[in-house]
Amino acid sequence: MALSIEDMAVFCKKKGFVYPSAEIYGGIAGFFDYGPLGVELKKNLEDQLWKRFVRSRCDVVGIDGSIITNPKVWQASGHVDCFEDIMLECTKCHHRFRGDHMIEDKLNINAEGISKEDVDKLIKENSIKCPDCKSELGKANQFNLMFDTNVGPVGENTAYLRPETAQLIFTNFRLVQENARMKLPFGIAQTGKAFRNEISPRDFLFRVREFEQFEIEFFIHPKKTDDCPMINDVEAMEINILLENDKDHKKAKIKDLLSKKILSQWHAYWLGQFYKFFLDMGINPANLRIRQHVKDELAHYARACFDIEYNFPFGWKEIHGNADRQSFDLEQHAKHSKKDLSFFDEESKEKVTPSVIEPSQGIGRAMLAFMFDAYEDDKKRGNIVLKLSPKLAPVKLGIFPLVGNKEEVTKLAMKIYNGLKDDFACQYDKSGSVGRRYARADEAGIPYCITIDFDTLEDDSVTIRDRDTTKQERIKIAELREKIINLL
Ligand code: AMP
Repeated sequence: MALSIEDMAVFCKKKGFVYPSAEIYGGIAGFFDYGPLGVELKKNLEDQLWKRFVRSRCDVVGIDGSIITNPKVWQASGHVDCFEDIMLECTKCHHRFRGDHMIEDKLNINAEGISKEDVDKLIKENSIKCPDCKSELGKANQFNLMFDTNVGPVGENTAYLRPETAQLIFTNFRLVQENARMKLPFGIAQTGKAFRNEISPRDFLFRVREFEQFEIEFFIHPKKTDDCPMINDVEAMEINILLENDKDHKKAKIKDLLSKKILSQWHAYWLGQFYKFFLDMGINPANLRIRQHVKDELAHYARACFDIEYNFPFGWKEIHGNADRQSFDLEQHAKHSKKDLSFFDEESKEKVTPSVIEPSQGIGRAMLAFMFDAYEDDKKRGNIVLKLSPKLAPVKLGIFPLVGNKEEVTKLAMKIYNGLKDDFACQYDKSGSVGRRYARADEAGIPYCITIDFDTLEDDSVTIRDRDTTKQERIKIAELREKIINLL
């Protein structure tokens, strides 16, 4: 039977990946704490994103903005007025539900972007009742997802916890461009916490109220959105794509989408780059697809928007959003702040407000997809094997003295551990049979285990075991470091 989201939550808690937040007090819906393995996995994922899309590119720089900022930012961006979901409340038990999810769950139709009026109509027509107590549902309402708070001792200074990382990039756009001497096209990236007061958090890490995002705002001359010099990096890539009017996804090349003018070149470039990221980090291509937003879902300012979706046990769901936001955000902030956010482009000798492509990556959701993709119940071994890419694996090397109570062996094992631990995340484990230690390592996703035995004392060799194949190889200690570098 396929692994359910509940099974995954149990596994994550048992192995120390993720716990319900403050569980000793009963937890709190939509909040999670990361355990010893989870924090490393999350860090590795963030590091891989940062390394690939910021450090190793000369056209993207990073910032780290504050979580609470001037509330005018959120008025200008439209979040204070419009960052809302439709809420239904039971007239008897007063439990609250998301309107679009209720319609999707009960009627099995796509309700993305549905209006409040249509929710009411469908609830009435189909006699949908409260799923918890079967009583009447009240009329649909809009519910704002922003968490508010007070700044300082005076009660009137309402501010908000940021619901996305993107806006601080726009407010700092001119400073960053000047400091880092960036020329169009260029990007600014940020990774950090975002908060959304979701009406009904569900599906473990999938829909939570506090999560991390990695976002890039990529600024382009508005007349050059179809002029991407790096487009051949992605053009020939084969993807699974669900187009706006199709029922099922099909295989296509990115260049097929470009020739049909479904999106601009720069948009295709960034969508392709993130799709490739997931594949390079080990996601099975059959479990990944791109979905084009339908007209009703598109924000009025967005020229086009695509999600990268993963095939979760609860259906194909968004793990990454990728929008062509044109110059909407910069124009809004220019209007509200009365500051000129336009930019002199030396190449075209024009003053322009750049057009923007926004790749938006949730870290927890991506992590959940990687966990599902890596999870294998190996009946032959009798344990779970978490086949995470070595790049993401929380621990890279298990170091085991074969006999945990023989001093010569443990001493040598500790020496090997000390020699490697500063460069690779290592775990020294001397308790239980070596079989149990391999099983524990498999379940933590440790790609390689090194065993030190009595022969090591004689021949200066250790055994290195591959998590995925269980193959073991004998190797000289002197060659170990080189071997590990090659393997990882
Ligand atoms: P959005 O701004 O809604 O397009 O979200 C961008 C990305 O942030 C999504 O693709 C998710 O990966 C992530 N995300 C958004 N909302 C949540 C949430 N409530 N819980 C976890 N991740 C989220």
